[in-house]
Amino acid sequence: MQTADMNASPPPVQSTPLFPLFVDLRGRAVLVVGGSVVARRKIEALLEAGADISVVAPQLVSGLDAWVRAGRVRHRATTFEPVHLEGAWLVIAASGDAAVNHAVADAAATRGIFANVVDDAALSSVHVPARVRRGPLQVAISSGGVAPVLARRLRERLDAELDDSLGTLAHLLGRERARIRWRFPQPAKRRRFFELLLDGDVLRWLRSGDEAQARQAFERALDTGRIEPRSGSVALVGAGPGDPGLLTLKALRALHDADVILHDRLVGPGILERARRDAERIDVGKRVGEDHDATQARIHALMLQHSRAGKRVVRLQGGDPLVFGRGGEELEFLRAHGIPYEVVPGITAALACAAAAGVPLTDRRHARSVTLLSPRGDTVLDEAALALPGQTLAIYMGVGGLETLSRALIAKGRAADTPCVLVENGSLPQQRKLTGTLLGLPALAREHGVRAPALLIVGEVAAQAQRAVNAERCCDEAPSVAHAA
Ligand code: SAH
Repeated sequence: MQTADMNASPPPVQSTPLFPLFVDLRGRAVLVVGGSVVARRKIEALLEAGADISVVAPQLVSGLDAWVRAGRVRHRATTFEPVHLEGAWLVIAASGDAAVNHAVADAAATRGIFANVVDDAALSSVHVPARVRRGPLQVAISSGGVAPVLARRLRERLDAELDDSLGTLAHLLGRERARIRWRFPQPAKRRRFFELLLDGDVLRWLRSGDEAQARQAFERALDTGRIEPRSGSVALVGAGPGDPGLLTLKALRALHDADVILHDRLVGPGILERARRDAERIDVGKRVGEDHDATQARIHALMLQHSRAGKRVVRLQGGDPLVFGRGGEELEFLRAHGIPYEVVPGITAALACAAAAGVPLTDRRHARSVTLLSPRGDTVLDEAALALPGQTLAIYMGVGGLETLSRALIAKGRAADTPCVLVENGSLPQQRKLTGTLLGLPALAREHGVRAPALLIVGEVAAQAQRAVNAERCCDEAPSVAHAA
């Protein structure tokens, strides 16, 4: 029995590395001690691996008892006795009781049976690693029990990075093994075929979810014995509003995969540093006073040049690539030149800023519609409909023209006291939120020196930002929030 001795020094850290093994458990006897939720989780994984499972525990949680009734797991409704280990190949101690787990580990050690004790690395002769699975492909991670949180973190990172197409590819290669062997009998040639396959178009098609095309590319390669070099491609990727946490998994994978990144100025270092280290980064941001058409033409030329050279180009834009950028023209250009492309949407500023301000843009009690606007001069506000009550307006690039905007909306009949919230640098650490009314807004923005990028939300729903702001003010001393009526 294990006793807690406060004076004893902690056990030495295991410095001898564990030996990794993947075990074929099909039909092998595995004993699980314990009937808790933890035991159920272990049994689930063991069932997947085809083990012959017995569980010993006075009681079972639901789910586990169902497996017993279905005949998938045998059950002894009693407390653990060493005799239960008879014939077992592996035992998992998940009783939740340190004394019982210790007894299981001892009994297993004397009988030469592998034992894993949940959450006790020192007592375990085998460890269950953190793992990432993609079909038959598995990555197992262990810190030898020294730093399980670190192992879990790494697991999360790999899980985000490895997309499902790898599993599909592994299945495909598994199915076609015999044909590949027959086609390339010499091991050296076969290895070369596999390597080229991974760099070619098959994986690209699988990634974009087109299994039929992937299959055709594979058949062509097998048929001719030649792999077509991977064709270049362009991904129009949304980087979200700035917080790297708001990148999608697809965006992150595109960044990990990129050869060339053409990025806007709004895309900050926090996001760019997550891209593949050797990817070439080119700032193609438009600057005030520059000829924007010339800059756009340069972007098109760079997309063409690099994709023609077989490179994977990521055109990275703030927010969503097709909301208030020139994504439309870029798409048209890619289509016209037959460049393979995909679009990875991003969280647009309106959504991120609404979330930051706690404003439900389409709250059915106050809003009939939401309009994303980017006013140029006065012209955009010609539509009188925008001035009707119950319309939420999310206005991009409005800082310079707030005065005009406020005047135009009021002149068209929108109430001067319509609530507004202005969010500067939404989702970034330096984010600021200002709440006010349509009438008071220009003065408020001037007073606080609001600068781009900022997004304005106008409409009855913005009153909820005021409430959220007040709640924050009472509990939070940070002067990141201002309010003017
Ligand atoms: N494609 C982008 C918009 C590009 S236009 C998107 O979908 O979000 C640039 C304008 O977007 C800025 O002038 C500003 O109005 C808004 N914007 C972008 N990022 C922002 C952020 N983090 N906070 C507030 N506004 C932002």
